[in-house]
Amino acid sequence: MNKILEEIMTALNCAVFESIPDRFLDCPAERLAELLPGPCLIDLPGREPRPLFVSVLLHGNEDTGLAAAQEVLRRHLSRELHRSLLLFVGNVAAAAANVRTLPAQADYNRVWPGTPTPDTPEAHMARWVFNYAAAKQAFASIDIHNNTGLNPHYACITRLEPQFIALARLFSRTVVHFERPLGVHAGAFGRLCPAITVECGKAGGGTGATHAVELIEACLSMAQLPSHDVVPHDVDLFRTYAIVKVPVHASFSFDGSPADFRFRSDIDQLNFSELGAGESLGKIGDNGARLMVLPGEGYDSADVYFDYRDGDIRLTQDAIPAMLTLDSSAIRQDCLCYLMHRIGVDGGRL
Ligand SMILES: [Zn+2]
Repeated sequence: MNKILEEIMTALNCAVFESIPDRFLDCPAERLAELLPGPCLIDLPGREPRPLFVSVLLHGNEDTGLAAAQEVLRRHLSRELHRSLLLFVGNVAAAAANVRTLPAQADYNRVWPGTPTPDTPEAHMARWVFNYAAAKQAFASIDIHNNTGLNPHYACITRLEPQFIALARLFSRTVVHFERPLGVHAGAFGRLCPAITVECGKAGGGTGATHAVELIEACLSMAQLPSHDVVPHDVDLFRTYAIVKVPVHASFSFDGSPADFRFRSDIDQLNFSELGAGESLGKIGDNGARLMVLPGEGYDSADVYFDYRDGDIRLTQDAIPAMLTLDSSAIRQDCLCYLMHRIGVDGGRL
């Protein structure tokens, strides 16, 4: 590596390895900080020179990507990779604390080129990693995440182009198109190559890692992604039209106990189901609190989605929720849910 770049990377605590670091393959996420100086790139050669870029642990408490990458590398210890692999291991400091992001850090999935805050140390590091992948002419990019609710495994894309959809379809027929927030990994890498984010359900086991291993293996072994038009019924495409938040000072419960919002106890089972107008998400308390409905995806305003007659929180139109969870801290930090609608391959709402 160029000496100056090497110094910059050292200053940012990011390293490049040209072989698998010692003890990496068996190391759990929370102990990676003992092996690695910080975020790192592992650059491994394969027969096809254009690398598959795989990013794991952008969020420190989402360990499925690490487990999947370790399994893929174990399988290839004794045989060459079919395609070169650039593995980015992200927020090992947050992983050590088993949190998404440490309080003093910028979120590692909001710092990639295109971010509105390009001057943080994390954004400098991300730009360097991006330029490294660009110089290597990345073939495709996969950023692996977990979430907290009962969500199906699904892929997210920032462009409705055939190769992006084809890459997403290697993982799931459920595909979410998004353009906000800015600075996410898949948005930046979408300028280099087909790029996806995959959501592998809850962290810490389950079938997510096996599923991600299959995706990585498929990408490593394929010569190219199909670029012909997608047949509409081969894919279920969704887009977020509204983000629903609980007001900061409002209380909520899931077991019917008194609160400003008494959500139904099975609310996280509703993710990705097509709810009809009139469906109830729970009840409001006596003080008449209201959910905040923010516009999604760069729309100026959100539709009206709820009415509260007789104290019921009812949908006023059909909608498909995602990210509903019983995890109170996720609701506080992020939102109660996204409300989506189906879209066609041309991006229009169906
Ligand atoms: Zn994440």
